[in-house]
Amino acid sequence: MFILQIAIPKPLSNYFDYLPPVGVDIEQLKPGMRLKVPFGNINYVGMLVNITNNSNCPNNKLKSVIKIIDSTPILSVDDLELMKWAANYYHYYIGEVITTALPSALNQGLPAKIKPLLGWKLAYDVQLDNLPKNAVKQRAILHLLQQYPQGLTQTLINSSLPKATSSLKTLQEKGWITKVLIDIIPNKTLAKSSHLQLNQAQNKAVNQVCSNLHQFYPVLLDGVTGSGKTEVYLQIIQKVLDQGKQALILVPEINLTPQTVNRFEQRFAIPIATWHFKLSKSERLHTWLSARDGLTSIIIGTRSAIWIPLANPGIFIVDEEHDLSYKQQFKFRYSARDIAVVRSKLANVPILLGSATPSLDSLHNANCKRYLYFNLPERAGTAIHPTYHIVDMRLQPPREILSRPLMKAIKQRLTAKQQILLFINRRGYASTLTCYKCGWVAFCQHCDARLTYHDSYKILQCHHCGITQQLYIKCPECKYTKLYLLGQGTERIEEYLRIQFSYANILRIDSDNTSRKNSIEKIFEKIRSGEVDILIGTQMLAKGHHFPNVTLVGVINVDSGLYGSDFRSTERMAQLLIQVSGRAGRANDPGEVIIQTYHPEHPLLAKLIQQGYPAFAQAALKERYIAAFPPYTYLALLRAESIDKPPLEFLEHAKLSAHKCDDVQLWGPVISPMEKRADWYRAQLLLQALQRKHLHDFISRWLPTLPASNNKKVRWSLDIDPQDLF
Ligand code: ADP
Ligand code: ZN
Ligand code: ZN
Repeated sequence: MFILQIAIPKPLSNYFDYLPPVGVDIEQLKPGMRLKVPFGNINYVGMLVNITNNSNCPNNKLKSVIKIIDSTPILSVDDLELMKWAANYYHYYIGEVITTALPSALNQGLPAKIKPLLGWKLAYDVQLDNLPKNAVKQRAILHLLQQYPQGLTQTLINSSLPKATSSLKTLQEKGWITKVLIDIIPNKTLAKSSHLQLNQAQNKAVNQVCSNLHQFYPVLLDGVTGSGKTEVYLQIIQKVLDQGKQALILVPEINLTPQTVNRFEQRFAIPIATWHFKLSKSERLHTWLSARDGLTSIIIGTRSAIWIPLANPGIFIVDEEHDLSYKQQFKFRYSARDIAVVRSKLANVPILLGSATPSLDSLHNANCKRYLYFNLPERAGTAIHPTYHIVDMRLQPPREILSRPLMKAIKQRLTAKQQILLFINRRGYASTLTCYKCGWVAFCQHCDARLTYHDSYKILQCHHCGITQQLYIKCPECKYTKLYLLGQGTERIEEYLRIQFSYANILRIDSDNTSRKNSIEKIFEKIRSGEVDILIGTQMLAKGHHFPNVTLVGVINVDSGLYGSDFRSTERMAQLLIQVSGRAGRANDPGEVIIQTYHPEHPLLAKLIQQGYPAFAQAALKERYIAAFPPYTYLALLRAESIDKPPLEFLEHAKLSAHKCDDVQLWGPVISPMEKRADWYRAQLLLQALQRKHLHDFISRWLPTLPASNNKKVRWSLDIDPQDLF
């Protein structure tokens, strides 16, 4: 008797046993095939994971599979192994892990077949001059299609130029463009660039990796911004391609860093697949299958791209490996960077983790010789390191938004026609609305958080649950009509600068004014062309973008990072600071960075400024060691939420139900630093162990004793290797 072990897309652990459909030869069934199975009253698309001979369930209770969807497995044995590993490691439901890993079309049971996509191309060598001047959208479409001679898919046209569909029709009727079927999603045609002559440090990294392409070879590539890490990737990838293998590259944000993809397109005369949220369902399926079948050799994508199967993996690269976006912060809380390491081990190929500010975890792995370490200490080309100045805000006039030294430096750059970048980690206008008479503060009714005032919409908004409300005109407590806005966000800095420097072109960049699709590319174009004098922005500006004409970076306030409530706060602050500073002075003019703080004496800040990130990181690692925090110990966080009060009792109970174990410490339960979020009260229990294995063995025994999480009163989730303890 054959039993099929099937993973079902439900938050239920383990597999479910089914009987094969009647009359089907068991030889036809292979792990990695999708099957339609009944569960409760609903039919689901399940994944066959194992075939065995026995079941814990009596045979007469077992249901049969309704239908076999795939005639051949859609996943290889290795891919399935990776997903099983991930379910096991993150103690998460295998069915949901598989759902996360597959494109939605496959989760819905659609055929795993590459279908050409509908696209458009120019009918002939179009002259834009012949179009009426007011046909803006039509011009934009023609301009876009000029860059894609083989045509571009309709959904990608729409994502670059919203609501293009009717203009496409018009252009077709006029005979300017024609429909095409697109087999491989095309790239821009860009002038090709050739290999650069590597410097010594780059050369060493490239040679070492290229001599070890046939084994697991984990490398931390630590190189300051602009030191030529991307060039190292490109040259190694060339070798991988020469051997007929594929490269998968993870990046934090494709849309913020279009030049990264451009550099790949300029170097390689083959299609480069990109994977990001703008792809449609059919494009996703197309890309996924093309990679799996070896039709595309270079895939660049954000977090979930780590699940794209490869016919012939040759290398994995994680750029900006320290970036928080690699960790999914909901449901299946996996780290794409960590999975990439496991995946390259399974595939027996090298992995490159690149960063100007490596995570302390990866540096520790390099210190322990688990990873090879290559350092690119110098900026490639002629640019030199920026210089840092700290401004002690305690010595500045009170309530001055920008300090005198910063204002003076801004003036100088404006006179010299150089660009200025001001960084502040908060969007909106003011972070607090308060009554000076009775001390009332505007809080979110649903969260344990203050409301932020947004001047461009004239509303108060909660940055945690998103709710918005009208601005109060008088204090709801004492009816006093003079309310004050305290704290600074991007909008307030912008307003202040517009008054101070009315002659300058000022541009604010945050998620409030870049949410319209594609406008970010236009913004970057404006910056490059020199139309902008002063840029004000949030951490969006810290991500991998080059602003060669920026020679001054002002960091308005670093203090929240210095004394943040999380053990990783200083690490994040240092990374952000170095990343933002790295945007400056790329060309021949040296960059200057001015940092405003009320805590100039902070030892780690001083270390960072005086000795740089590597020295900071080693000092911060020492602190972690003394405090017994990761990477010297291993953590898991049980987060629980409840509607009426913080679920401390539930967590106490969970703690008591755990069998005593000397190797694992349970800390808490405590109320979470943010007690209430979106109407749920929050509490947490921290698990800590000196050895990873002890932690995981403990959790494996303990989790099955906890009640199901979809319980209406208390819901919980377990975060393995949590990135924060909020
Ligand atoms: P990173 O990825 O570390 O930020 P990049 O690879 O983007 O650095 O390199 C920064 C700049 O230096 C790019 O303009 C690149 O073309 C240039 N560059 C990189 N390597 C070299 C080299 N060996 N010689 C000259 N220029 C280089
Ligand atoms: Zn009041
Ligand atoms: Zn809220």
